Amino acid sequence: MLAEAGTTSTDTAAGGSTSTSTDAPDESATFASLGLAEPLCEACASMGFKKPSAIQREAIPWALGGRDIIGLAETGSGKTAAFGLPILHSLLAKPQPLCALVVAPTRELAFQIGEQFEALGSVIGVKCAVAVGGVDMVQQAILLAKRPHVLVGTPGRLVDHLQNTKGFSIRALRFLVLDEADKLLNMDFEKELDIILQAAPREGRSTFLFSATMTSKVEKLQRASLTNPVKVEVSSKYQTVKTLVQQYLFIPAKHKDCYLAYVCNELAGHTTIIFCATCASCQRIALLLRALGFPAVPLHGQLSQPKRLAALNKFKAGERSILIATDVASRGIDIPSVDLVLNYELPQNSKDYIHRVGRTARAGRAGRAVTLVTQYDVELYQRIEHMLGTQLEQFSAPQEEAMLLMERVLEAQRHAAMELRGKDEKRREKGGRRGRGGDEGGDADADPELQRMMKQKMQGRRGGGGGGGGGKKQRR
Ligand code: AMP
Repeated sequence: MLAEAGTTSTDTAAGGSTSTSTDAPDESATFASLGLAEPLCEACASMGFKKPSAIQREAIPWALGGRDIIGLAETGSGKTAAFGLPILHSLLAKPQPLCALVVAPTRELAFQIGEQFEALGSVIGVKCAVAVGGVDMVQQAILLAKRPHVLVGTPGRLVDHLQNTKGFSIRALRFLVLDEADKLLNMDFEKELDIILQAAPREGRSTFLFSATMTSKVEKLQRASLTNPVKVEVSSKYQTVKTLVQQYLFIPAKHKDCYLAYVCNELAGHTTIIFCATCASCQRIALLLRALGFPAVPLHGQLSQPKRLAALNKFKAGERSILIATDVASRGIDIPSVDLVLNYELPQNSKDYIHRVGRTARAGRAGRAVTLVTQYDVELYQRIEHMLGTQLEQFSAPQEEAMLLMERVLEAQRHAAMELRGKDEKRREKGGRRGRGGDEGGDADADPELQRMMKQKMQGRRGGGGGGGGGKKQRR
């Protein structure tokens, strides 16, 4: 995303008036002019960061000045480097084990933040560790005993280590980051955050609280954790970027899978994330699309941690061009170039729509989001349009063309249902051991005849339609 949105910094010093320091940020700023040390400017350049993003321009000088920060910014704004670079700058001046702790709501986000610290900090030899659930505690305790400079973790596992890992303490922290605070609180991590705050030092600590939204719970957390903070806001909240084409497709619920196959077929060749509401539906859609010959891989909370990472890596490496995900994947995950976001099921919360579609049209690139809307979703859908303040355009899908796929889709549905039953039985028999295939969608699952037919159809369309892998019509 990194849309050059307007930013505001507000000094919320206790007892004083509120002053707005910047309404028109200096877009000519460089990483060096923000005050960052030379090796870090070089690290940014080697990562392809040409100039600081809006949130970085606003947050970094305050952070370098030692102030606590409330950052209202979403994934894609460059917020990780906005808090990461000042931490690395401080480490460069004064190295110290367990200097910074970053608390993130999901495992994927924690790994991603860890990766960014490693990438930006490698030039100065920074060691970073990630502590999340689903990974062996003892192995993690060994990593912690090596005293990394920066620790990134999810709340539950961090508390586990604080309470059970001998010698592990965060008493010497110089930086505490609470990332995606609204999500941390929505996921009921209040108790864990309290324990972490109690274990951190009160004095001599900078705290950065980043959140996409400012809810009353976030305000409460802010009061409990920050001192004399500066509020830094990227004003692209609840807006989608201009390069994003958003469309909806109104369809009868009973033919939803058929239209899903139609859209996938029309937009074949694009990197796609399909969002589902539940793990079960995510799993079923992955099997259905696999049976239809689409290179799909599921990512949801019921997969083990290694499987989630493996799914993500397959997608990132381009081995699979379709990721079927629950909202776990809609925030925080760094997937560089997604061409299409397809909402198979609508999110219950309109704000999640923004997070989902924020996976495409990033960094000035074009992107498309298509939302399937059935007769049961009208109210939810209208709420989304209301929040966006605009009416979306319709994705054209002639009924007679979509219905041509009916027979194959029915076959694939049967196939997926059978596979799911088979997996359930195997799991019950073998006490949780997974079936063949390796990523719960199993390459071996695809019906070869169905695959052949779909491929033929896809090739026919692309060949005949003049086009770029994007289907036969240019829909805008
Ligand atoms: P984040 O909002 O931290 O999840 O960052 C989103 C993406 O933007 C990541 O892939 C970063 O590597 C990238 N990024 C961060 N800062 C910059 C920048 N100044 N210029 C270009 N890309 C950036």
